[in-house]
Amino acid sequence: MTDHPARRLLLVHAHPDDESINNGATMARYAAEGAGVTLVTCTLGEEGEVIPPALAHLAADRDDTLGAHRVAELAAAMKELGVTDHRFLGGPGRFRDSGMTGAPQNHREGAFWAAPVDEAAAYLVEVIRSVCPQVLVTYDPDGGYGHPDHIQAHRVAMRAADLAAEPDFRPDLGTPHAIAKIYWNRVPRAYAQDGFARLRAATVSFPGTGAVDDIPGVVDDAVITTEIDGTAYAAAKTAAMRAHATQITVEGDFFALSNNLGQPVLITEYYQLVRGERPVGGRESDLFAGVTS
Ligand SMILES: [Zn+2]
Repeated sequence: MTDHPARRLLLVHAHPDDESINNGATMARYAAEGAGVTLVTCTLGEEGEVIPPALAHLAADRDDTLGAHRVAELAAAMKELGVTDHRFLGGPGRFRDSGMTGAPQNHREGAFWAAPVDEAAAYLVEVIRSVCPQVLVTYDPDGGYGHPDHIQAHRVAMRAADLAAEPDFRPDLGTPHAIAKIYWNRVPRAYAQDGFARLRAATVSFPGTGAVDDIPGVVDDAVITTEIDGTAYAAAKTAAMRAHATQITVEGDFFALSNNLGQPVLITEYYQLVRGERPVGGRESDLFAGVTS
């Protein structure tokens, strides 16, 4: 245990780029503060659509080499955030991107969505028992917006958190470890609305504008327990998003995915605490609030 940093944060995401969009500022902050930041990405995002025309040949329905390209994009993004510990669940390519809901790829051999939850969770148990995070960040049960890999990432992360603490589960995977606090990524509706108001007032070249409901994890403000002010890390966050160039176009404080609909970059990142002691009076401003060891 002595070689671990005092504070240790684990994030579980479905595809390369989700971490930078959702948690880029949070990851940069804790890395800068010397905390251990571990990212586990569950798939290589092989089924993603490719934005730059020059790279269109990477797509799954053409060369099917997008996965390896996105491994490099993720590494570049992590450099921007100062995060050195990033891994793929079960190793790169162990689980494949399942595509959008209802796609035939959902059920193909090796698809993350088709994997038994406990089997996938065992890989994460090994990471949890080795890194010993006090804090876990993942998606809500709907995966933020219903993508099968996001829903599965939620299930696997929550199941692994339980199994990692269970002394009888796979003692060969390390000493049991209980995670003190678990958070789901959230965005308060009012903050999302403000972001779109800023976008409408700005001059950007995106052909269309997204809507509040295009942002994953939007909830009523009252659901939010925790907010991380990312102002000091906004540049690192947008640089990390820009590194995912096959997936994201960044323009100033705004970005678009392959649908080309403008969205605000969310500089303050919000969370719902679902395990651990809830803050009394107001929101937390630190994911490690109340963590003692
Ligand atoms: Zn994703």
